[in-house]
Amino acid sequence: MSDPQSLATQPTIIARDEHVISRSQISERALTVLYRLKNAGYGAYLVGGGVRDLSLGREPKDFDVATDATPEQVKSLFRNCRLIGRRFRLAHVHWGPDIIEVATFRALHPPAADEADNDGERVLEDGMILRDNVYGNIEEDALRRDFTINALYYNIADFSVVDYAGGMADLKAGRIRLIGEPAVRYREDPVRMLRAVRFAAKLGFVIDADTAAPIPRMADTLDDIPAARLFDEVLKLLMAGQGVETFESLRQHGLFRYLFPATDTALDDDVDAQLLTFLARALESTDRRVNDGRPVTPAFLFAALIWPAILTQLPGARLQGDINRELFEQSVTEALERQLRQVAIPKRFALPMREIWALQPRFDTRSESKARRLFSHPRFRAAYDFLLLRGEAGLVDPELARWWEHFATTSEDAPPPTPARRRRRGGRKRRNPDASAAQLTQPDSDPAGE
Ligand code: ATP
Ligand code: MG
Repeated sequence: MSDPQSLATQPTIIARDEHVISRSQISERALTVLYRLKNAGYGAYLVGGGVRDLSLGREPKDFDVATDATPEQVKSLFRNCRLIGRRFRLAHVHWGPDIIEVATFRALHPPAADEADNDGERVLEDGMILRDNVYGNIEEDALRRDFTINALYYNIADFSVVDYAGGMADLKAGRIRLIGEPAVRYREDPVRMLRAVRFAAKLGFVIDADTAAPIPRMADTLDDIPAARLFDEVLKLLMAGQGVETFESLRQHGLFRYLFPATDTALDDDVDAQLLTFLARALESTDRRVNDGRPVTPAFLFAALIWPAILTQLPGARLQGDINRELFEQSVTEALERQLRQVAIPKRFALPMREIWALQPRFDTRSESKARRLFSHPRFRAAYDFLLLRGEAGLVDPELARWWEHFATTSEDAPPPTPARRRRRGGRKRRNPDASAAQLTQPDSDPAGE
C-alpha cells in the first residue's frame, strides 16, 4: 500500500446546506446499507453515479456505496449479501432483483509498471490493471477513481460531500476530466476511454482537452479488453438513451473502429452516407424507445450495427433482388464471426439477429400470399421494422418498403406493434442489467414519427 502521507491532498468538505443532495432522494435500501455500516463503526459513503447524478438534479441509475469495511466485514453485517468479482472484489447486498453495490476503499496503484504482488491481490501487466484488491483509505480510493465527477463522496455520518479531486467544480463547469495523468489512467484500464465518451453524451458535458487528447492514439488498446466486457460497455454506450450522440462521439474519437471494425470501414467507404443514415435511424429509434420507457432489445440494434459489414461483402455492397442466398448467408456468417471476436454478443441475442437478417431477402416480394406467410414468423415484427429502416436510408427500393408498410398496416393478419411499457423507476442496480432487453420486443417503426 502506498503511503497516504505522501499524497497530502486536502479534501474540500461541502457541508450539508451547501449542496443539493438530501436523504429523501436516496433509495431506502441504499440508506439501510449506509446506516448499518455506520452503526457498526465503519465509514459509509454514497459515491459515484449516485452523488454525481443527484448533484445535477438527475435520477441516478443505481446507488453505489464505499466503505472502509472489508468485503468480509460487509458480508457479516447483511444476511442478504454476496461477495462477487475476482478482478475487483465487491459486496452485493440483495433485495430481490435490487442490488446495492458496496466497494471497499482501494489503495492507489503504485506508479511502477509491471508488478504482481505476493498475495496476488493486485496484478498489473504492461501498466494494465488485471486485478485490484488492495485496500486503502478514502483519499486513495478517491484518487484511483476514473473521473473527478465520479469521485465525490456523500458521508452518511454528517451529510457532507467530500471532494478530493475537484469534482464539484467540474460538475459545475460541465467537464469530464480524468484524475491523474490521462495516458497512465487509460493504460491501466482502456475502458475509461469509452466511459469518458459515455458520460459526456449522457450528461451533455465536454471532455476536457487533456483527457481527450490521448484517446485516438490509445484507442487500439481496447483490443486488450475481453470481448465480454466490451459487450457490456457497448450496451451502456448505445442503449442508454443517447445512442446517436454517443455513436458520433465514438467515431470522432476513433473508438468505434475498435468496437465494430468492419462496420467502421464500411461507413468510411460509403460515399453516399446511406449506411450512416441507416445506423443513425436505428439509434434514433432505440433512443426514442428508451426515453419513452419502452422495452428495447440489443438484438435489433446489433443487427443494425453489423448490417453495413454484411452489405460490403455483397455485389455492389447492396442486398438486391436477385441475391444469391448462399453468398448472403456466407456474408452474414463471416461478418458475425468477425464481430464476435471484438464484442461477445451472447447467443440469446445473436440468434434473433440472424433471424432478422435471414428474413430480409424474403421481403423482396409483393405477393400478398407470400407476405402473409411471413406474418406468422415469430421474428416478423423485428425484421419488418428492420426493412423499414433500410427503406428510410435508401438501402432498399422505396416502392418495396412502401408496399410492405401499406400491407402490414392495413392487413388484419399483421401482428401488432409491441405495446408500450412503463419504465421502472427507483434507480437501483438490477441483477441482470439487460433484463428488460432480454425480452425480445423490437423498436416499432413509427412512420408517423410517434
Ligand atoms: P452509472 O452507474 O450511472 O453508469 P457510475 O459512475 O455510477 O455511472 P459505475 O460503473 O456504476 O459508474 O461505477 C461506480 C463508480 O466506480 C464510478 O463512479 C467510479 O468512481 C468508479 N469506477 C467505475 N469504473 C471505473 C474504472 N474503470 N476506473 C476507475 N474507476 C471506476
Ligand atoms: Mg453506478
